Amino acid sequence: MRDDRQQTLTALVLALRPYGEADCRVETVTAEQGRVGAWARGLRRPRAKLGGILQPFTLVALTVHSGRGRVITGAEMVRGFRILKQDYGRLTAAALLGELLLSVVPQDEAAQDVLALSVAGLDAMEQEEEPLGPLLAVLRDLMQLLGWGVNAEICSVCGRPLFGDCFLQLEEGTITHGACRRLGMVLSPPTLDTLAGRDGAPSLLALEALAQLWQTHLERPLKSLPAVRSAFRHLA
Ligand SMILES: [Zn+2]
Repeated sequence: MRDDRQQTLTALVLALRPYGEADCRVETVTAEQGRVGAWARGLRRPRAKLGGILQPFTLVALTVHSGRGRVITGAEMVRGFRILKQDYGRLTAAALLGELLLSVVPQDEAAQDVLALSVAGLDAMEQEEEPLGPLLAVLRDLMQLLGWGVNAEICSVCGRPLFGDCFLQLEEGTITHGACRRLGMVLSPPTLDTLAGRDGAPSLLALEALAQLWQTHLERPLKSLPAVRSAFRHLA
């Protein structure tokens, strides 16, 4: 007999919060229901069946039982991102993405697009030689998906194409020519290329610009940002 309280979700595990003696609250973003938190009983016991699977940045087919709270009854690995998890820089980049997802994805709303973008981003962070590039792309594209995208092609004052050193107006989320408005955060041409989604070497300046935009939208500092800055300081 089919049990309506049992469902299987495509879920990206983002965080584990220890609870009690051996339990965990598992925070995920799912394609079907957006942000979902569920209990994993006994997950912190040494030989827990799902211990190797329910790890941050693992894509799983998650079976949950909804009764008094959601309880995880099964999980099958879809993507493990094993290489990403073994590399500090890649993991740091992923952690920033995870923090953003837990901040902006609502509960009880399908989130296929956000999940697809995130999985593609993790894939690129795992495979590309320099994971900062894929992180910047995901920071930019996720903002676009949420309707917070910045127009990095056209000056918001004169309406002409942007070129040269420009200025980012954080509060308005717009960019202007230096000649039109000498105020805000300076964007060098390579940083402008990154914000516009054109190819360019990933830079810490682009990270700063995107992170500042995110912080303005979230109205709080990003906890994972200092670790990302430090992991990629060799690019300065
Ligand atoms: Zn202008």
